[in-house]
Amino acid sequence: MPLTAQDHPLAPLNAADAEMLARVQQLVQDNIGPKANAVNRDDAFAWDTFRTLADSGVIATAFPRELGGSDASMLLRVRIIEEIARVCSTAASIVTGTDLSSRPIVAGGSAELCAQIVPALARGELQSAFALTEPGAGSDLARLSTTASRHPGGYRLTGVKKFITRATVADMFVVVASLADGPGGSKGLTAFLVPRDAEGLSVSPIIPKLGWHGVPIAEVRLDDVWVPDSHRLGEEGQGMALAQDTLVRARVGHAAIALGRMTGALQIAAQYAGHRQVSGKAVGEHQGIQWMMADMAARIEAARCLVYSVAQRYDRKDAETSIHASIAKMHSTDLCMRVVVDCAQLLGGNSYLNAYPIERFLRDAKMNQIGEGTSEVHKNLIGRYVMKTASAMSQHPCLDFEPDLFGAQ
Ligand SMILES: Cc1cc2nc3c(=O)[nH]c(=O)nc-3n(C[C@H](O)[C@H](O)[C@H](O)COP(=O)(O)OP(=O)(O)OC[C@H]3O[C@@H](n4cnc5c(N)ncnc54)[C@H](O)[C@@H]3O)c2cc1C
Repeated sequence: MPLTAQDHPLAPLNAADAEMLARVQQLVQDNIGPKANAVNRDDAFAWDTFRTLADSGVIATAFPRELGGSDASMLLRVRIIEEIARVCSTAASIVTGTDLSSRPIVAGGSAELCAQIVPALARGELQSAFALTEPGAGSDLARLSTTASRHPGGYRLTGVKKFITRATVADMFVVVASLADGPGGSKGLTAFLVPRDAEGLSVSPIIPKLGWHGVPIAEVRLDDVWVPDSHRLGEEGQGMALAQDTLVRARVGHAAIALGRMTGALQIAAQYAGHRQVSGKAVGEHQGIQWMMADMAARIEAARCLVYSVAQRYDRKDAETSIHASIAKMHSTDLCMRVVVDCAQLLGGNSYLNAYPIERFLRDAKMNQIGEGTSEVHKNLIGRYVMKTASAMSQHPCLDFEPDLFGAQ
């Protein structure tokens, strides 16, 4: 079932979730798909798409019921994200970006702060942005240099945040800073909710980029910005622990976007190959082309199984969810890049034209290998996990460290 996930054995949905997914599929067919090329033309925030997703209840799936959301399972979330990403990475990233920018508020905000803000986030009346990365620190968070100094009643934040998605439209920022506890040093990373209109906070113009148009990025500067105690998210020094669930959700989201995009790319390539005639027959009737598509189809279906199974682990609160999120993210995003390149090859010169969607898919695919931990960062995590797991297992019954090579001849 490489082109469709309908009734997938690893993703059984209850009646209400199946109905929600069917509504999203209709929305993709009637609205998001037909508009995707136009949405992608300019890198201005895709307000229409955002409103459509909010009005149809998709944004609310990221939030708990008691705060105005619909508390969707991760399984439903990945199915929704996959469907949307088949046609439009911009729309899909608005869905996954909601996790990244809002879940730290849900996880670490006081009951009063959450009640004030979260229902409006769930309805799409407010937006937040997640500000972690800095000019000097992306993968290596030990190099973060934004500081929060403690004062009676609150903190003063100073630093620069780079690559911040939605910065130009967000009403508030989740800022991760390291707490300078006077002469004595750092007390670790701490998260704060900073309103856009806080004095000393400024946002650069949109920074031009390759793809993901419609969800622009900008730089955010904090110059001695006052943040009251009430806006600290979680405990001091718990910034990364607080962000952990957010990052797992966002990684699964990236894997699902990549899954949807490669599924869409293969559908486009196969339909094009069935239509385009070369040497007296359709491109898709040549065995070499069918073999390429067979490879892609098999690998995409394997990625789908990974993505759905990590979603199930998340919903079961499985202790191994985080490492499986790394595995799914690395595998699905790296595979997507390769699949989209191969699909472009199948469309020949037309793949290079703006009029065909593959050039957009190609530009968008790169981002999933970079955001929420690059493929290399996830490789490091997975490699360490493999070594640790192996050392905890009993020795493989066929392994002898000092075989008698002479006797074995
Ligand atoms: C479009 C876009 C939107 C983004 N949105 C946001 C956002 O909303 N909020 C936010 O906080 N950030 C955001 N980011 C930042 C993103 O998370 C970072 O770009 C990413 O974490 C990588 O960091 P970096 O760019 O500094 O790369 P670097 O950390 O400088 O890495 C450079 C290269 O070195 C490799 N590398 C790093 N460490 C190792 C290692 N130990 N072993 C092997 N290789 C290694 C990396 O894989 C990469 O290939 C966004 C980025 C982009 C492009």
